[in-house]
Amino acid sequence: LGPMNIQLLEKDGERLSFIIRGISIETANALRRTMLSEVPCMAIDDVVMIENSSIMHDEVLAHRLGLVPLRTDLDAYVFPEECDCNSELGCSKCRSILTLEAEATDETRTVYSGELKPTDQLTSTSNDRIPIVKLAPGQKIKLEAYARLGTGKMHAKWQAAAVSAYKFIPVVSVDEEKCRGVKECVRVCPKDVFEVSSGKAKVVRLLSCIECLDCVKACPNGAITVDWEKDGFIFNVESAGFMSPEEVVLRALDVLKSKAEEFASEVGELD
Ligand code: SF4
Ligand SMILES: [Zn+2]
Repeated sequence: LGPMNIQLLEKDGERLSFIIRGISIETANALRRTMLSEVPCMAIDDVVMIENSSIMHDEVLAHRLGLVPLRTDLDAYVFPEECDCNSELGCSKCRSILTLEAEATDETRTVYSGELKPTDQLTSTSNDRIPIVKLAPGQKIKLEAYARLGTGKMHAKWQAAAVSAYKFIPVVSVDEEKCRGVKECVRVCPKDVFEVSSGKAKVVRLLSCIECLDCVKACPNGAITVDWEKDGFIFNVESAGFMSPEEVVLRALDVLKSKAEEFASEVGELD
């Protein structure tokens, strides 16, 4: 493997794409999986229904509330299982309380996630426009919801990354001697990787290539070769709204690092 090197390709709100070179496929896959299943985040896990005259059952309403992403400050909270309070009810370090009280008076209306009121501003909803339930005139809901840290491994509602995927870095080359400019590659390529100028095919959007090899098969002159770098990957990460996509990557690296340290210390204790 060569030296490790990271290059940002795009950052747009909850989305991040970057190139990472100099790591093995096993490491790339460990990073991908850790982002999906082991970065902790806050979600509602327990709901006390004080009143619910909507047509939605308590359980369904509680389930929907669990799926609302809450802004997560990982420096402020710990897992209840690891908290010093040792209490079933939890404390301000391992639990956050949100309340919701909504009523429809003369018109049917939708209750949105933004109406959940956090008692601790750190765990406000990251998207205020998620529909929770519809209320007809006279219907009301009133509840208290308890959020806690969890991971995607425990339940998908705690999945910090909505997308975490990588692909190999493509290497596409056109042999100018063989190319007759017949544009077959331009016609078949699903990602518009080629353009023909001065009678020769040119690679103009290399990173869009999905390595389908259609151009290789389509070129009647055998002018195109497609390969991929063996130690470089293009990552696409999309945060589910708990934290920024950069933080998802960094927290996943923290998890991997602490696992490696734990492994090293266990091995160190062997006779
Ligand atoms: S391998 Fe597929 S995506 Fe890549 S350049 Fe060829 S046709 Fe386009
Ligand atoms: Zn606690």
